[in-house]
Amino acid sequence: CPPRDGEVAKAQRAAGDHAPTIFSKILARTVPATVLYEDEKCMAFRDVAPQAPVHFLVIPKQPIPRVSRVGPEDTEVSLLGHLLVVASRTARAEGLHDGYRVVINDGKHGAQSVYHLHLHVLGGRQMGWPPG
Ligand code: IMP
Repeated sequence: CPPRDGEVAKAQRAAGDHAPTIFSKILARTVPATVLYEDEKCMAFRDVAPQAPVHFLVIPKQPIPRVSRVGPEDTEVSLLGHLLVVASRTARAEGLHDGYRVVINDGKHGAQSVYHLHLHVLGGRQMGWPPG
């Protein structure tokens, strides 16, 4: 999909904002979401504005604001691995047998709009390269 100016503008406005986000409310189940997977460390749920036939997010329960803030501690490093494994397992469960894309947007130039670390998993159509 072509880049959406509105999303980039939203991301640039959010770049300095590390307060609790909508994803904390999804984790607390005070905001509804279509949850595909959950365990003690993470949750996967459908993106509310899908950019592909299948588009879901995988988030840690620990509110790390962005991937560039992941610390060197073994628990945070292994958490990143766990999120990727969950992304891959959930993609398989969603029928993405011809592949998919995993994206992490970081900060202003990465067009991150929600400052709670998340992996996007997009699939069900041919992706283009380079991304916008
Ligand atoms: P970012 O631009 O990488 O930060 O992506 C944030 C994503 O969160 C976007 O794709 C949004 O559509 C998605 N999003 C924002 N609010 C919600 C929600 O309440 N439920 C599910 N997805 C959301």
